[in-house]
Amino acid sequence: MMQEWPVSNPDGTGLVDLLADDPVVAGADTPPPWRILIVDDDADVHLATEFALQDAEIQGRGLQFLNAFSAAEAREIMARERDIAVVLLDVVMNSDSAGLQLVRVIRDELGIADTRIVLRTGQPGQAPEIEVIRDYDINDFKFKSELSRNKLYITLSTAIRSYEQIRELDDNRRGLEHIVRCSTLLMGAQSLDEFTRAVLAHVAGLIGQRVDGLICVRQTAAERGEEPIVQAASGRFESWIGKPLSRLEDDRVRTQLDHLLAQPGSLFGDRLVALHLGCEARGGMVAYLSLARPLNRIERNLMEVFGNNIAMCASNLSLLNRLRNAAYVDALLGLPNRLAFLETVGQALQDARRDTHAVVLLDIDQFAELNDALGQRHGDLLLKAVGQRLGERLGTAAYLARIAGDTFGLLLPLDLAVPDRLLGIFRDFFDLQGVEQRVMVTAGVVALREVEGQRGSDALKDASIILKRAKRDQRGEVAYFRRAMVTEGREQLQLLQELRVALDQDQLFLIYQPQLDLSTDRVVGMECLLRWRNGAGQLIPPDRFIPLAEQSGLIVWLGEWVLRAAAAHLRQLRARGWGELRVAVNVSVVQLRQPDFIDMLKRVLHDYQVPPERLELEITESMAMGDFGANRRVLDEIRQLGVELALDDFGTGYSSLGYLQRLAVNRLKIDRSFVRNIETPEGVGIIRTVIQLGHTLGLTVLAEGVEKPAWAERLKELGCHETQGYLYSPPIAGDELLAWLERQGGEDARGA
Ligand code: C2E
Ligand code: CA
Ligand code: CA
Repeated sequence: MMQEWPVSNPDGTGLVDLLADDPVVAGADTPPPWRILIVDDDADVHLATEFALQDAEIQGRGLQFLNAFSAAEAREIMARERDIAVVLLDVVMNSDSAGLQLVRVIRDELGIADTRIVLRTGQPGQAPEIEVIRDYDINDFKFKSELSRNKLYITLSTAIRSYEQIRELDDNRRGLEHIVRCSTLLMGAQSLDEFTRAVLAHVAGLIGQRVDGLICVRQTAAERGEEPIVQAASGRFESWIGKPLSRLEDDRVRTQLDHLLAQPGSLFGDRLVALHLGCEARGGMVAYLSLARPLNRIERNLMEVFGNNIAMCASNLSLLNRLRNAAYVDALLGLPNRLAFLETVGQALQDARRDTHAVVLLDIDQFAELNDALGQRHGDLLLKAVGQRLGERLGTAAYLARIAGDTFGLLLPLDLAVPDRLLGIFRDFFDLQGVEQRVMVTAGVVALREVEGQRGSDALKDASIILKRAKRDQRGEVAYFRRAMVTEGREQLQLLQELRVALDQDQLFLIYQPQLDLSTDRVVGMECLLRWRNGAGQLIPPDRFIPLAEQSGLIVWLGEWVLRAAAAHLRQLRARGWGELRVAVNVSVVQLRQPDFIDMLKRVLHDYQVPPERLELEITESMAMGDFGANRRVLDEIRQLGVELALDDFGTGYSSLGYLQRLAVNRLKIDRSFVRNIETPEGVGIIRTVIQLGHTLGLTVLAEGVEKPAWAERLKELGCHETQGYLYSPPIAGDELLAWLERQGGEDARGA
């Protein structure tokens, strides 16, 4: 669609009036005259020609003469000047061939093909050969006697019309070439910003003049309600970049852009062009161009072709953007995805941010359980809320992405990657459609300067290592990556491989630590503790290998082996008359989560003929609390079998009284760390509280790690029921224990 100014304005918005007199471009503009070069060594010929053509106009344009009195001078002028429409050339100057030689120079050497050449000669005998006329594209051939105004006028108008046609064809060709070339370039634009800036540059190149222009874009179709803004601008519009359309000071420009956004087309004024650049996917893109000189017919045509072409490029751009989006944006949250995060972090690793920034992986605690319990829709809402909260609280300082499921990635300055800032974000409840939800997160942080390697994946790997550890050992906290962890990790892997063969090679065994009744000093049972003496004869402490076994799942069969070994030992003791003793076995939460745990337990009880009440399972406090519903079911089933339960390391977790009450445990084991402090007022305070709690709930309280008689005395005073520790015996081998038992109490300690 093309509208001519100042022809008409179909919807009568007064657009024409508004646009006709742009103050900057106003001013009458007479078209430039045709330039005619007279080449003749006879000054009279110059005078006569100019006189004959004075005030002549051809196609509304006047004539301007240039004068050369020799071939050399003519050559110089031709090389220097542009846009010479016609050369009136004397064939015979200082030599017979000077004129024809000049023709060859103009066409071949200077490469000027569009200028028309009219040969003139004094005598009929000097007429050039027909071949010359053809080969050098000579327009006309005249005798100098034909200098009448009328004849000259006809000659020149024919030549000029021909010149104009050639120029048009040429301009068209060049313009189209330009359009094709810049379309290719525009297609390569990575962003709307780059694209629109390139359009402005190319439009100026197309018409070969300075353009003060701007391009206004309504961002996306989805935001069609949103206001278009000036995306790119050049020249006197440059300061308008980023402004919303409605805030443009210039009424004319604003009205015109409004008009074109609403109604696609193009508008041409004297020195104004407004183009609708399509891009419907983006909700519209329009250009406003203010020109230094008016466009000719060809330029208008080209401009229109250009506009259509840009529209095509632009729709491709939005397609490309959409493709890029699909690859880089998380569909659910609209945040950058893992791939985008990797690229951005990779970039940061290579610029100044390497010294100032950190990568944080932030994971929602117990999201899977939450998702299962409340449904995926609720889970999605929660993810969205968390993403939004992070974005709001961290602002532009942080680059936020969704890495996977419930894991978010942040690239942010080191001073923001601190527990206070990160965990503070989650202190407030989340409002999920009226439902208040508390969200806890665990975060792993790696400072970019700690990262070995330049790729985003290097940083992400380190961050994942630390996040994984934090999820295991420091839930709800922020953990920091240290380079040493990588070697530690490697060593652990090595250890795990050794552990796999340990059992087959009889490197694992149990030792037992007696447990006594504080009021009677009689042995009531024993805790069995796992030991590993590796191939090199070194004793590996359980604190080192049990967590590894838990992570790898090895603990499942390791745990069953322990349970069987303990049961076998108990059977032996029972056979020796120690029928009242119970054996306590430490059980890991990983074992409890096995669906066949209860069946396994029943089999062991059956296989070794162990009365259930003689077996006690020690579970840690956090195990009893975490994942409460599922764990509690198993614990109830254990109790229903008659097997006893002890809450190990009591006081180190966060059990609430309510939980404890509902939890069917038999025994609380006061952690060694409290017993050790029994001689201080605070230490004794905690112990007293735990003991009272046990009394209130009707539970037996056992203090572990008792090393001194005074501690035992004090514990007894406080009402503690049972005890265990180096004071009585360290953990000892099974046969040693038997000897110990015999020594301790002999027959009467054997009880029943
Ligand atoms: P725990 O269950 O709290 O075990 C008590 C730990 O305290 C044992 O360390 C024991 O040797 C030590 N101990 C006992 N009396 C004293 C004392 O008077 N003073 C001091 N300073 N320490 C004392 P151990 O054997 O190194 O076991 C460490 C942990 O390894 C255990 O802590 C338990 O959590 C885990 N563990 C040991 N065996 C097994 C097992 O068979 N299965 C599972 N799942 N965990 C086990
Ligand atoms: Ca224990
Ligand atoms: Ca313990």
